[in-house]
Order: sequence, then structure tokens, then C-alpha cells
Amino acid sequence: MATSSKTPIAPPGDADCGSNALALIRTEEDLARMPASERIRYRLVGADCRFHANDNIAEFVRPGETDELKEEVAQHMQAVLRALVIDTEGDHNTQDTARRVAKMFVDEVFRGRYQPMPPVTEFPNVERLNELMIVGPIAVRSACSHHMCPILGRIWIGVLPNEHSNLIGLSKYARIVDWIMTRPQIQEEAVTTLANVLQERVKPDGLAIVMEADHFCMQWRGVKDLDSAMTNSVMRGEFLKNPNLRREFLALLTKKQST
Ligand SMILES: [Zn+2]
Repeated sequence: MATSSKTPIAPPGDADCGSNALALIRTEEDLARMPASERIRYRLVGADCRFHANDNIAEFVRPGETDELKEEVAQHMQAVLRALVIDTEGDHNTQDTARRVAKMFVDEVFRGRYQPMPPVTEFPNVERLNELMIVGPIAVRSACSHHMCPILGRIWIGVLPNEHSNLIGLSKYARIVDWIMTRPQIQEEAVTTLANVLQERVKPDGLAIVMEADHFCMQWRGVKDLDSAMTNSVMRGEFLKNPNLRREFLALLTKKQST
């Protein structure tokens, strides 16, 4: 996205943006002197785009800026360790922890915020497939935005295509799931975000998603309940209207689970 310092930013495709985009007042030279996180925040605010924990902000991150972000996070992480009164100089195990955590956040567990959607090739439905199709279980690795604790689980996707639907390869479902899950969020929102992306890409008559996951903020801390998994689902289109279809999906899913 080309943004000169005086032109309003057009609301980008994947980001959740309002209509109150403002012209950026600062020049790129001014921005260059700011920390990368402030620079990216400035562009987001200027474009009236949301940047919640589970939002993708890739369109506002310029090449090289994720390296700068990692540097910033590492510095702040070092301050957190210091505040926890951990001797990161004397304790060889924690000497490089701040840098490792920064890299883990930006490049791995939260990368779905900073990287654009993986390329997905869509095929026209030439065979006019209109049978229920189930993909899963797909492994889910996410984190809760309340505690930054891991959420680990599985997801199943049911698609009822029509002749106008776009079909995407099976492995692409896993890549889209990974892109959405690698953000801090809560499970209900994760499933809704995934449903929105798939609805827009595949344009099926019906879409069903079930997610089952362990929340480490329940197991590692809090009530320390080791057996509590959370299951939630989203049903769209035909799955809402047709109880038989819903039953068929849930029955196939139970069968898949037990095999
Ligand atoms: Zn939590």
C-alpha cells in the first residue's frame, strides 16, 4: 500500500477500518525517528483501523519493521525480567530470554498479526460439488488475550458448496486456520474470524466450524482444572436453516473423532 505523508490511507482489505481516515501529518522522515511500534500505531490510527490483539495489521507494517519490533519487545521483556527480580546476568538460563521471547511472539506465536494472509488459490467449482465436505481435525495453537497463555486444540470445518463456490485445497484450510490462530484472542472470536474469512473466500451455501481446545489459563493458573476443554461452534447459512445437515456434520465429526 503506497502512502505518502499527505494522502489519506484507503481502508485495506483485511483490516477492520472505519471511514474516519485522516491525512497523515507527519512525514516519513519524522516517522523514521519514532520506534517502529509507534510508527505502525500512527499509521493505524491515521487510517482509522482497529488494532486489537486479534487483528491482522500486516498492511501497516513495512519491510524490516518486524525486526525493529522484535528489538523493542526484547528491550521491554528485559525490563519485565528485571521487575521480576531475575538476575539475567548471573543466571545463564535467562541471559537471552528477553530476546528469545520477543522472537517467539513476533515470528511464531503471534505472527498472524504481522504477516499477510498466506496465498490461497481458489478453483471454480467445475464439478458442481454440492455435498457436505468436512475438513479436520486441524491442530489449533493460539493464545488467550487475557493472560497470553496457550490455547491448544482442534478444529473441524464443514462446507456445503454450491456451483458458484470457490474451492480451496485441503492444506489451505490448515494454513488459514494457522494464520488466524497465531494471534492472542478468545476462542469465540477466533472461530467467528475464521468463519468470516472462509465465508468470503469460499462463498459456500453453508459453513460450520467446531473448535475444541484446552485453555492453559485454566490449567496452569486460576482454577487449575486440568480436564476442562472448551468447545464452541459457528453455523452459517444452510447449517442454520437445516437441522438434518447440522446433524450430519456433527455425526461425521463424532465418527472422525473416535477413529
Ligand atoms: Zn486467559
